Amino acid sequence: MSLIEIRDLTKVYQMGEVEVHALNGVSLDIDQGEWVAIMGPSGSGKSTMMHIIGCLDIPTSGSYILDGVDVSQMVESQLAAVRNHKIGFVFQAYNLLARTSAIKQVMLPMQYSRDGSRVPRAERRERAEEALEVVGMADRINHRPSELSGGERQRVAIARALVTNPSILMADEPTGNLDSKSGIEVMEVFHRLHEGRGITVVMVTHDEAISADAERVIRLFDGRIERVDRNGLRSEVESQKSKVGIPAQLMSDVGVVTPDKGSERC
Ligand code: ADP
Ligand code: MG
Repeated sequence: MSLIEIRDLTKVYQMGEVEVHALNGVSLDIDQGEWVAIMGPSGSGKSTMMHIIGCLDIPTSGSYILDGVDVSQMVESQLAAVRNHKIGFVFQAYNLLARTSAIKQVMLPMQYSRDGSRVPRAERRERAEEALEVVGMADRINHRPSELSGGERQRVAIARALVTNPSILMADEPTGNLDSKSGIEVMEVFHRLHEGRGITVVMVTHDEAISADAERVIRLFDGRIERVDRNGLRSEVESQKSKVGIPAQLMSDVGVVTPDKGSERC
């Protein structure tokens, strides 16, 4: 049994009269401890797929079995419990709170434990310090985002994602806002977590160099898997006929706001 089992997933967004077919029948298995990159042009459905895999949203149709549990029709409170238990998120724009110190940002996800009871503050602090140490930020725990570089902010965001001990780390363009040196530092943290702790990594990226770190590269086009490369070799081909409808790219170009673009965060 794979950790993630996705079958014939579709996602249709209703924009007034217009239906946007963001995913058009995606099937995919991801094993525990695997590192998978998701690539594809803007509007191809990468973020939509991340949101569904990450239990931030549910599909319009198709099934998604996560760790043996069908999560494809769960309501938000159930999804939130699954996220809290199993998944850590890292976003391109870090999504940190502007006026909050690194240590407090990382303590936040532990505000309530899995069964809803409170984790004692001393324990939250200790675990947050450990997570910040893992990402090499032990000497910056009282810094606010404005006092940190982009790469340091992203490492705080990774510590926040880690602190609940997730089995899956999901990252949407985690190096997209970083210079190449900071990007390398952030990728080193992902490697440490993947190789050291066996964390499953699902990472959206535009960058071929970054996708080369993955064991498998899933290439999306118009909401379908166009190709899967394993260790850089093309080994599985899914030919997909193009579907008639509103081209995904067109909707993207008119500026539909996706949920991962928070405005008052930094
Ligand atoms: P990518 O991350 O590959 O750029 P997305 O998954 O964000 O692609 O988007 C896929 C398609 O779905 C695009 O056409 C996009 O405009 C549309 N889309 C994404 N999110 C929404 C939404 N919340 N409402 C309506 N349309 C959306
Ligand atoms: Mg996206």
